[in-house]
Amino acid sequence: MASDYDVIIIGAGAAGLMCAATAGYRGRKVLVIDHANKAGKKILMSGGGRCNFTNLNSTPANFLSDNPHYCISALKRYTPQDFLELVERHGVEHEEKAAGQLFCRDSAKDILNVLLTECEWADAEIRLKTSVTGVTGTDTGYRVTTSAGTLTCQSLVVACGGLSIPTMGATGFGYELAKQFGLTVLPTRAGLVPFTLHPELKEQLAPLSGVSCPVDVTCNKQHFREPMLVTHRGLSGPSMLQISSFWQPGDTLSIDLLPSQRIHEDLQTLRRDKPQATVAQYLGQYLPKRFAQAYNDLHGWTGPLQGYKNSDLERVAETLGQWQIKPAGTEGYRTVVFRT
Ligand SMILES: Cc1cc2nc3c(=O)[nH]c(=O)nc-3n(C[C@H](O)[C@H](O)[C@H](O)COP(=O)(O)OP(=O)(O)OC[C@H]3O[C@@H](n4cnc5c(N)ncnc54)[C@H](O)[C@@H]3O)c2cc1C
Repeated sequence: MASDYDVIIIGAGAAGLMCAATAGYRGRKVLVIDHANKAGKKILMSGGGRCNFTNLNSTPANFLSDNPHYCISALKRYTPQDFLELVERHGVEHEEKAAGQLFCRDSAKDILNVLLTECEWADAEIRLKTSVTGVTGTDTGYRVTTSAGTLTCQSLVVACGGLSIPTMGATGFGYELAKQFGLTVLPTRAGLVPFTLHPELKEQLAPLSGVSCPVDVTCNKQHFREPMLVTHRGLSGPSMLQISSFWQPGDTLSIDLLPSQRIHEDLQTLRRDKPQATVAQYLGQYLPKRFAQAYNDLHGWTGPLQGYKNSDLERVAETLGQWQIKPAGTEGYRTVVFRT
C-alpha cells in the first residue's frame, strides 16, 4: 500500500524545517507536523530576538557530546559557511558581534523566513496545531498517529527538539520514541543555565544583586573568563552560563574575581606604599564600587592594611582568587539560554 508521504518530520523547529527543505529538494513528498501554532518559535526568541545563526569559528571541539565523532562528520558535511551562504542568498542583513558570532541585523524572523521560503520552494507541507501522539513501525515505513488522524510514511524524522523552554512546545516525545525503537537514551541535563544558591548564601549575596564583573570561573578542569552577574536568584552572566554545562550537582565553582591581578603581591605592595589603604579600596580599583564594598563587608575585612600580617593577606588573596561557591542547582530547562 502506498504511503501518504515519503517523509514525515515531527517538529517545525530549525532542524525540522531544514530537513524538510532538503528532503523536498530531493524530490520527496514531505509533511512537517508541529503542535505549536507557529513554526520555529524557538528561532524567534534566539539570540535575544536577533538569532545568533552561526559561528564562523565552530569546530567539533565546541560541542559537548558522548559521541564526538558525530560532530566531526556533521560539521564536515555542512559548515558554518554553507549556512552563511544560504542566509546571504536570501539577502539577510547580518553582523559579527564577538569574533565569529553572526547575528541578524534586524530580527530572528529573517532566519525563520529563510527556512520557510526554502520549505515552500521545495514543496514541503507544514501542518501546525497537530500533535503526534504515537508511532508504530510498518512493513514499508511508519504509521504516525496525530491529533488529526493517522498518516503513513516511508521515512520518519524525529526533530522534536530538546527539553529547554517547555512553554515553547518542547516535549520529551523524541526521547520516548527513541526508547520505543530500542535506542539508548543517555540522561539529559540542562546546560547554559544560571545557578541557584542555598538560602544562606543567597541572602549574603543579596546586596550584590544586579552587579556584573569579569571573572575567571573553574569547574571540572574547564574555565571561562567572562563576566559574572549576581542576580536575586543566584549567579548568571556568560561565565556562569558557560560553566554550567560542565557542572554536576554537588560540584564547587572556583571563582577568580581578579583574574588579571597578582593579588597577594599587589596587597603586599599596597601595604608597604599606603599602609592606611583598605582591602575595599584595593578591590574598588578593579571591581564595580558597589560589588567591592559589599564583597568586602561579606568577608568582614575591616581596618587599614597595616593591621594585616602576611598570612592575613594570603587568606584575602586566596578568597578573592579562589572564591569557593557550591551552587544549590541550576534554573533548569525553564530558562536555558544559548551562545555560539
Ligand atoms: C533563549 C534561547 C536562545 C537561543 N539562542 C540561540 C541562538 O542565538 N543561536 C542558536 O543557534 N541557537 C540558539 N538557541 C538554541 C536554538 O534555539 C535551538 O537549538 C534550536 O531552535 C532547536 O531547534 P530544533 O528544531 O532542534 O528544536 P525546536 O525548535 O524545539 O523544535 C521542536 C519542535 O517540535 C515540536 N514538537 C515537540 N513535540 C511534538 C509532538 N509530540 N508533536 C508535534 N510537535 C512536537 C515543538 O512544538 C517544536 O516546535 C537558543 C535557545 C533558547 C532557548
